[in-house]
This record gives sequence, C-alpha cells and structure tokens, in this order.
Amino acid sequence: MIRSNETFKPRKTGSWIHNPATGERLAEILEHDPENVPLMVQRSRKAQIEWEQVPYKVKQRIAYETSRWIHAHADTLSLTIAHCTGKTRTEALATEVLPAAIAFRYYSQRIPHILHPKRLPTSSFLFLNKKSIQYRVPYGVIGIISPWNYPFGIPVHEVAVALLTGNGVLLKVATQCQPVGELIETMIREAGFPSDLFHLVYLSGSKVGAAFLDGGIDKLFFTGSTETGRILMQEAGKRLIPVSLELGGNDAMIVLSDAPLERAAAGAVWAGVSNCGQSCGGVERIYIERPVYDTFLTLLRQEVRQIRQGPDGFDVDIGSLTTEEQRKKIIEQVQDALSKGARLLETSPDTGMNLRSTLGLGTTHGPIFYPVQVIEVDHDAGPLMQEETFGPILAVSVVETEEEAIQRANATPYGLTASVWSLSKERVARVASQLQAGVVTVNDHLMSHGMPETPWGGFKQSSIGRTHGDPLIEETTQVKVLVWEKLPRMKRNLFWHPIDSTVYDGLKGALSLVAGKGIRTRFQGLWRLVHLLVKKVRFF
Ligand code: NAP
Repeated sequence: MIRSNETFKPRKTGSWIHNPATGERLAEILEHDPENVPLMVQRSRKAQIEWEQVPYKVKQRIAYETSRWIHAHADTLSLTIAHCTGKTRTEALATEVLPAAIAFRYYSQRIPHILHPKRLPTSSFLFLNKKSIQYRVPYGVIGIISPWNYPFGIPVHEVAVALLTGNGVLLKVATQCQPVGELIETMIREAGFPSDLFHLVYLSGSKVGAAFLDGGIDKLFFTGSTETGRILMQEAGKRLIPVSLELGGNDAMIVLSDAPLERAAAGAVWAGVSNCGQSCGGVERIYIERPVYDTFLTLLRQEVRQIRQGPDGFDVDIGSLTTEEQRKKIIEQVQDALSKGARLLETSPDTGMNLRSTLGLGTTHGPIFYPVQVIEVDHDAGPLMQEETFGPILAVSVVETEEEAIQRANATPYGLTASVWSLSKERVARVASQLQAGVVTVNDHLMSHGMPETPWGGFKQSSIGRTHGDPLIEETTQVKVLVWEKLPRMKRNLFWHPIDSTVYDGLKGALSLVAGKGIRTRFQGLWRLVHLLVKKVRFF
C-alpha cells in the first residue's frame, strides 16, 4: 500500500529509447507497476475534489504560469521532442511548443464562457412553475493516452483543458517519447497545479488500457491508430466508460483549376511531408483538375527537389521517420502501388536510403529515413490510396471535374481533414460542403491543429468526439441540470397520486391546449385543465 506522501517510482526496464534520426541512445525505458494505477487514480481523485472548488481565477493564473514555463523551456522542449521523434527542433517549436503555449492561454480565457451556468428556456406554459439551470461539471479523473507523432502538442491540449475544467489527469505518452512525458510532468508541477492532481504513467501500450479502465478513471481520451482505438472502445464499452478517440486519417487535397498554384504546391509539400509525413491530418492524396495538372506537377516537383532532409539542424527542412515499422509500411504501400502501374515522378535529394548507408548506422533504431516521393496514381484502389500511409509520400491524381474530385476524396474509410485550393468562393463553398471531413481548410492544410479555437476531429473511422475548441471543453465535462420548483408551497403536482378520471381528463385537456387543432378544441382543453387545477392545486 502506498502512503499519500510516497511517489510512484517507475522501474528501469533495460530497454532503451533511441533517436530515430541518428540511432543514438536517448533514455532507458521506464515502467510502473500496473497496480500503482488504481492508487494514482485515488490520489488524483482526492486532489480533484479540492481542485474543483478552487476559484477559477486561481486556475487561470496557473494556466498563465504554464505558458510562461513553456516559453522559458522552449529550447529544452523542442530538442527533446526532436530527439525522440526524429523531426527537427524548428518543426517541434512551430507545431508543438508554440501552439501549446497559445493553447494554455486561450483555453484559460475560453473555459469560463462554456462552463458558465445556463438558464434553460421553458418549453411549455405547463412548466411555468419550473426553473432549470444547466451546469457543466468535471468528470473526475481523466485518462489520456497519446501517440509519438506530436508527443507534446497532442496531449497538452487535453491535459490543459481537463485540468482547467476541474479534473484530475493520468497521462500515458507513447513509450518512444517518455522523456517528453517527463517534461510535461515537470511543467505541471512547476507551474503550480496541486500535487497528486496529475500523474504521468509509465506503462506499455499492451498494459495501459486495462490498467486505466479497471483502475477507476471516469473518461478516456485516446489518440493513435484506428486499430488501437477500436480495441479500447470495445474494452471501455464493457465497463461503460466514455471515450473520446482521435484516430487515423487519409487526407485529400483538391486543387481546382483556379487555385493559387505556387501556394498550393508549397502547401502540399509542407502539409504532406512535415514531421516526415507522420501527421494524422497531413496531405496524403492530391486530386488536381486537368487544366492545371501539368503546371501544378512542375511546381510540386520543384518544391520536392529542394527539400533538405537529415538529422536535426538548421540546415534541414525535415527529419526522419520515428519508427522502423513505419518505414516498412511505407515501402510496402509504395511498392504495391508501383507494381500496379503507379509512377514515381520525383524523389527528394539526400534520401533516407543515402543517409542510412552513408552514416553506416542502419539498425532498427535508426537512422530511419525515407525520402519525399511524388507518385502518380490513376485509380484509388490499393493501400496507398485507401489506407493511411503516414509517410512523406504525395500521391497525385488528375481529375476531370469537381464531382470526380469530391467522389474520390470521399472514397476512403477515413474523414479527418481535407482541403480545397481555389480563388473562387463559390466553388470552394460547393466542394467543401460535400467533403466528408471534420475539418476543411481553404488554401491551406493541417495547420488548424495549432489553432486551439478550431475543433479537431473527423468523420467516419477518424474520430469519436472532438479535441480542441469548445467541443474539447464540453468533452472534459458533463452536463448537470438543476430543476427548481418555483411554487414549493403547492402541496402536490397535478399528476401526483391520488389519480382519478379528473386527472386523466385534465391532462388530455393540457394536450388539446398544446397540440389541438382549432380555437374550439384548445378552449375545451383549457376548460378541462382549469377543472383539474381547481381540484388539485392546494397551498394550505
Ligand atoms: P498507436 O500504436 O495506436 O499508439 C498510440 C498510443 O497508444 C501510444 O501511447 C501507445 O503506447 C498506446 N497503445 C498502443 N497499443 C495500445 C493498446 N492496446 N491499448 C492502449 N494503448 C495502446 O498509434 P501510433 O502509431 O503511436 O500513432 C500513429 C497513429 O495515430 C496514426 O494512425 C495517426 O493517424 C494517429 N493520430 C491521430 C491523431 C488525430 O488527431 N486524429 C493525431 C495523431 C495521431 P506505446 O507507445 O507504449 O505502444
């Protein structure tokens, strides 16, 4: 039994985390005893009960302090993220560290507007004696499981909102990114959140699901693959624990004939290959209208030829992949497509293959590089177009019409985000309204993940629920309604016992009054209702 002043110390496992861009050892993998989890939940719940009562102004001050902490530790954060994931520190700063600081400030100001109690409008004169007020209250203790691709940027939104809406949190980050998790824990502690409210859990993916769901959490937030999300939802369903899931994507970008082509080509490359293409909302498939196909491809290929790839530094644009499994999956998908007639049009210089052999470090730990490739595909069959590739591959395809672009963009089990590129507002509105995606960006792609005000999440197999924006604030809280009787001295309601035919008649009268056709029917209804009121309403 752990006493309240003891900490939950993880043990060393003898296995190591490596920098995927260099293969260098980074840190030893740590692991908690799964039996610690119910105790962490208990301790978090105890702290949460007090935290919920803390005035919001105090919570807001801590949120500001957290964003200042992020500012003060920006280099350490960016470098640690870069070392764990293989991305560059500039990418880490732009897509994770800066958005996290913005998020803490934004949510701390936005939350009171969403949590503010709401007086509900009365639906019928029959309830004029009632006053209903809707509150949003924290769930209690929220479990968060996050992936390796944005190990700081993704969990920090959920952690920020869960804590600021009054919850306790247990966070498990991807094993590959445990050092980033440690920084999140330090940030929460040093910014001034109460001790025990937040716990970082060191457990492998295979153990954490059961540990969380049986350990007493009140809600689970998971971001990761669709396969894992499906398993977790089934397990949570058995225990009736609510879940919020952010899963895979297979984003389409549609380039219409009046698109700003130079911007579209540069944007396709940024959103398709930053983080080495390992973004749930990254560009995977590009559908281009025939009249601009050749010009767009020329521009796209120019952009790709200029991409500089390598281990973190200010002289490279993108880094490595994060896992060897990911590299194998990309190779399989690309080879499958090429064997079925797809054409490799362009490859970025200084490819991963070259780096791998020139550095002589081609182990499963790294360097794990894969070059940027432009692949022309005629049809949408096969894994490259149907599944998530999660790599620096830009699959391009010509389309004859808007309708064809929409139909092909929607022909996938995923629906996370999509983009339309055009200077015509009418065409954008027409196409965007038919895309089955949770986010549609216009003349841009992916970046709205960095805007905490825009809900993030998708249709079909991409999401259950939403993170970011007001929906995230709603997802970390549940509705509670207080229904007041305005005439508490009235001895009984009309339909309370004892029941007789006057009650039935009076209630039918109420129904006629609400929904009957014609003045005569309504007046008769009113008469029967008044009869019941006279008989039943007593104050003394
Ligand atoms: P993953 O294998 O599903 O892992 C995600 C997290 O879940 C990791 O912390 C992992 O821990 C843990 N995990 C693995 N198996 C588990 C299980 N059976 N029960 C409970 N937890 C388990 O996904 P990933 O490969 O890290 O991430 C890439 C995927 O995430 C892609 O499909 C991407 O599209 C998706 N993603 C979606 C969004 C979005 O917002 N929709 C954002 C980012 C990523 P270990 O590290 O210990 O295995």
